[in-house]
Amino acid sequence: MTTKLTRRHALLAGAAAPLVALAATPARAKADMKGMTTPLFSRFKHGDFEVTTLLAGTRPVEEPQSIFGMNVSAEDFAAVSDAAHLPTNVAQFFFTPTVVNTGEELVLFDTGLNAEGITAALAAAGYTPDQVDTVVITHMHGDHIGGLNSDAGATFPNARYVTGSTEHNHWSAAGNEGFDGKVKPLNDKFTFLDDGGSVASGITALAAHGHTPGHMGYMIESGGKGLVLIADTANHYVWSLAKPDWEVKFDMDKAAAAQTRRKMLGMIAADRLPFIGYHMPFPATGFVEADGDGFRYVPSSYQLMLG
Ligand SMILES: [Zn+2]
Repeated sequence: MTTKLTRRHALLAGAAAPLVALAATPARAKADMKGMTTPLFSRFKHGDFEVTTLLAGTRPVEEPQSIFGMNVSAEDFAAVSDAAHLPTNVAQFFFTPTVVNTGEELVLFDTGLNAEGITAALAAAGYTPDQVDTVVITHMHGDHIGGLNSDAGATFPNARYVTGSTEHNHWSAAGNEGFDGKVKPLNDKFTFLDDGGSVASGITALAAHGHTPGHMGYMIESGGKGLVLIADTANHYVWSLAKPDWEVKFDMDKAAAAQTRRKMLGMIAADRLPFIGYHMPFPATGFVEADGDGFRYVPSSYQLMLG
């Protein structure tokens, strides 16, 4: 029997030769598949402060247009998504509290969906819940107040709590299960502030109403450097930045939220400040550029590592 060797066969035969040789050596143990993973914290120096973003939770959510882009056509939603290499059938959500060590106190902004998520991320970052001196609640949605307590009681036993007075007043009168279960038991430990109010030296409230009636962002300043914590002023890095007027399901006053989005993002872009966004992709830090009638998210690379 004769075998015709084509050039392709000859190449394959040649390529196979080293494998034959390897087969004579003992097989290596196969490594296990580890599954997808993400880091739980990211820390950088900001003036004399240390700032740590904490991934308290992340999950895929289907049909994102039912949340973002409620007032636009499916075609428009698909075009903006496609331009950013994003699918339209599912989005990955991130829940990212931030803890700031001022050198004098440990200030935690928001608490995630539940106590397990925030305590796990804090532990990964090297903090215990009893070290938290101040908990700032940007607004009273469940994904921000969920970690305040659990069946075991208050998650942060030594903390005082700070939030916007308008926000607290609204939810106090709303008959809301989340507020009544999570915030109300801590009411006597809360103090309240308005636009320009101070949480600690260098940490100042920025009124950002619209998402909720008393929603607040914060300016974090140290060593002459600014950093803006926008909380839920923008909830998606593409849909909310490129199209600030697209209606978002979770914005309670949609027109006011869009106006606040334009104002806050415009300020961050004009002043070229870094910002932290609670729902930006982890580590949730970046910059904003004006882009056409909207904005563009510029994720931080190594800028924040330079101190
Ligand atoms: Zn939120």
